Amino acid sequence: MIKKYLYFFGGGRAEGNESMKNLLGGKGANLAEMAGHKNLRLPVPPGFTISTEVCTYFYANKNQYPKGLRDDVHKLIKKIEALMKRKFGDVENPLLVSVRSGARKSMPGMMETILNVGLTTKTIPGLIEQSKNERFVYDSYRRLITMYSDVVMEKAGGIEPDENMGIRKQLDKIMDKIKAERNVKNDTDLNVDDLKNLCVLFKKKVKAVLKKDFPDDPFDQLWGAIGAVFSSWNGKRAVSYRRIENIPDEWGTAVNVQSMVFGNMGDDSATGVAFTRNPGNGDNHFYGEYLVNAQGEDVVAGIRTPAPINEVSKNDHNQKLVSLEKGMAKIYQELFSYRKRLEKHYRDMLDIEFTIEKGRLFMLQCRVGKRNGPAAIKMAVDMVEEKLITAKMAVSRVTPAQVDELLHPIIDPKDEKLNRPIAHGLPAGPGGASGMIVFSAIDAVNWAKDGKKIILVREETNPEDVEGMRAAQAILTARGGMTSHAALVARGWGKCCVVGAGEIQIDYAKKTMTIGNEIFKEGEWFTLNGTKGNVHKGSLKMIDASSENKSLMKFLKFCDESRRLKIRTNADTPEDAKRARMYGAEGIGLFRVEHMFYGKGSDKALFLLRKMIVSKTVEERIKALKELFPYMKADIKGTLREMKGYPVTIRLIDPPLHEFVPREEEKRRELAKSLNIDLKEFKKRANQLHENNPMMGHRGVRLGITYPEITETQVRAILEATAELMRENIKVEPEIMIPVTCNVKELEDQGIIIKRIYEEVQKKFKIKKINYLVGTMIEIPRAALTAGEMAKIAEFFSFGTNDLTQMGFGFSRDDIGGFLPDYLERGILPDDPFQTIDQEGIGELMKIGIERGRKTRKNLKVGICGEHGGDPRSIDFCHKVGMNYVSCSPFRVPIARLAAAQAAM
Ligand code: ADP
Ligand code: MG
Ligand code: MG
Repeated sequence: MIKKYLYFFGGGRAEGNESMKNLLGGKGANLAEMAGHKNLRLPVPPGFTISTEVCTYFYANKNQYPKGLRDDVHKLIKKIEALMKRKFGDVENPLLVSVRSGARKSMPGMMETILNVGLTTKTIPGLIEQSKNERFVYDSYRRLITMYSDVVMEKAGGIEPDENMGIRKQLDKIMDKIKAERNVKNDTDLNVDDLKNLCVLFKKKVKAVLKKDFPDDPFDQLWGAIGAVFSSWNGKRAVSYRRIENIPDEWGTAVNVQSMVFGNMGDDSATGVAFTRNPGNGDNHFYGEYLVNAQGEDVVAGIRTPAPINEVSKNDHNQKLVSLEKGMAKIYQELFSYRKRLEKHYRDMLDIEFTIEKGRLFMLQCRVGKRNGPAAIKMAVDMVEEKLITAKMAVSRVTPAQVDELLHPIIDPKDEKLNRPIAHGLPAGPGGASGMIVFSAIDAVNWAKDGKKIILVREETNPEDVEGMRAAQAILTARGGMTSHAALVARGWGKCCVVGAGEIQIDYAKKTMTIGNEIFKEGEWFTLNGTKGNVHKGSLKMIDASSENKSLMKFLKFCDESRRLKIRTNADTPEDAKRARMYGAEGIGLFRVEHMFYGKGSDKALFLLRKMIVSKTVEERIKALKELFPYMKADIKGTLREMKGYPVTIRLIDPPLHEFVPREEEKRRELAKSLNIDLKEFKKRANQLHENNPMMGHRGVRLGITYPEITETQVRAILEATAELMRENIKVEPEIMIPVTCNVKELEDQGIIIKRIYEEVQKKFKIKKINYLVGTMIEIPRAALTAGEMAKIAEFFSFGTNDLTQMGFGFSRDDIGGFLPDYLERGILPDDPFQTIDQEGIGELMKIGIERGRKTRKNLKVGICGEHGGDPRSIDFCHKVGMNYVSCSPFRVPIARLAAAQAAM
């Protein structure tokens, strides 16, 4: 064989290492690292990894393996045999192996693993003789039959059974029946005879359902299992998971063949999973669960309630169970020492799997652990303080989405106090969420499609539920622990989730759940507190609490050390400005003058604006503007004051004026009266303002061109507010921004007005100099192309990427609903260009604008104020093209601080 396809690990050495994930998959690479790295050399059962290249080959060559692979696999089996002093398929002293999948990125529960491969009617007696434990052998055999018939014979065999008719379900039913007959609850309560009997019934059932005998040759089993793992890469669930997680189909999976160690050999044996720190909140505590006399998946499958590994891992459900720390103190100490070594070596929080075989500890897996946003940030900050990582590493480790999670609402504590929870579970995904309960993934998807907020309630989730989980606001399960499927997935997504709420009883058929004596139907509102694990009836009020998070504040400081871009915010009120400052905004990138005419308390100002709009003569208009002036000045002054010491970009009135003309008869009459005109005349004037295409009509700078007095009033308000604040010794930096320009002559025209008003204000206040800038929005393609000219007048540019995208694409933002979904689905566009900057086209216009603008004016200040200013990918682009700042909504400021730091790294 020319190419190396197989990588051995065991006996203190390994051919692979942690950096070879692409080739060995995450599991294989980390097994090699744990087994072979000189800092670790942990007790890992020997085995080897078949590389992902074999998977690629397998799919490219009609499910054939590369030439010589079989022989090489058999050679490495011999190598394992030598280390284990057992032989695969030997009748006296048989070796058993596991065949484990492992892609580059972990895909929890999506891929398949088969344990106990090599058990046959011929090897069973030998293993019984060796282990002196007949029960253990038949327990292993019934597990092999279940896993193998499900994964290899059914799934990889391409059989698609009807719902609930899958072979695994059918075998489980047989086991349930036997348990019922014997009147026991747990699998561990079944004795040798039960298990023996079970194996016979299992094999019969397999034959009846799948029309094939259960394979009784160890090598048939081995190759069947290897092929099935490769096939599982293209299984339905794995494919749909890859779509959601954006994992390329070409990656393929590796296969790990590893000698078995047994956690099911009795009460001195166990299997468990642990996190080196708490993945739910980031606390620096060893955190995990284990099950005595169990194998593999038992811990996560929720077959029995797993016990906590130590005190801090205790919860309502497992607090009465004996912890590993108490029950097997020495093993716990050993495991704890590995925890420390692993964290030091990987410099990260790890998720580990271990098995204890008759008092001996084995490590079966480790990987960088999934964590939710709050935990990611706390760990990153803690690890910097522990000197485990640098601040830069901390910044690179947290995703903008994880920061976003912390900014998610929590239940208003006041409301929470008044509404006692009606059930408790484990806090598996942070924050609060409300929704209507549904009981199946399909319903979840459908209801969400109708725009409904829903909570998916399940006994437990499994990989088939992922799309429904995705669609839900929150997930609630009646069973399962912190390492259950629901918890794992929710943590990965940062979704609100409560698991193992034992009081809940679900009736899937009736679509109801019962808590205590109360029955709840599908569609009823509930609220979850995923940080505490509480379930509340009804829809509780949500609030934001991110500013109270100390770790977040520290983390964002790390970000500030690394970034070059300044972060501003789009804010129109002192309250918004204040909130944004709290989140670290360094100025306002967009303050819209017209905002004062909307919302609470705007009645009087709006009335005066309307009066101005329907004025017929200059005199009428100037009179109305004079009345409006004090309101405008006060409004601008409030925000300037709040942003003392920071620049504030004030955009002159932008929307077409007729938007403000009232439609209600009552308001119209009132206005007409104040103008001394009759209603008929009023209507005439209002109709004259009508436009066919107002978005491209008489708006923005065009208003200032036809009605210079509108510009005058606004500029005077800005500069007088500034002068008054200067008298109070408050330093402010207004930047006057002229919108919707496409031609430098527009700027020249308005520039003259601004200059004149400036001189008047200067005189009036007897001030030598007022600091202010004049600039423009670049939101029309022509403005970007003629930026060299525009910059002769404009001292700053702010890219209005909403309109620039709209006009650059010729897509009306308000009407894209009709076609954009098709564009995305068919891949005509990779993304919604209104969410993330289209770098190919619109981005090109921006680059041209910056380049040409700076050619004319070297120190031209450039920023962005479109909604893209809060999108991490767009922020990266803004950094690369050399902008000075991005401006986004107050809530996105923390995300922008991180994105800007990551862009600079
Ligand atoms: P997954 O990727 O779904 O976690 P794994 O390959 O890790 O699947 O295997 C599933 C379970 O079987 C895990 O609990 C793992 O620890 C256990 N397991 C895998 N290989 C062995 C082995 N050689 N001996 C004992 N247990 C094993
Ligand atoms: Mg695993
Ligand atoms: Mg605009």
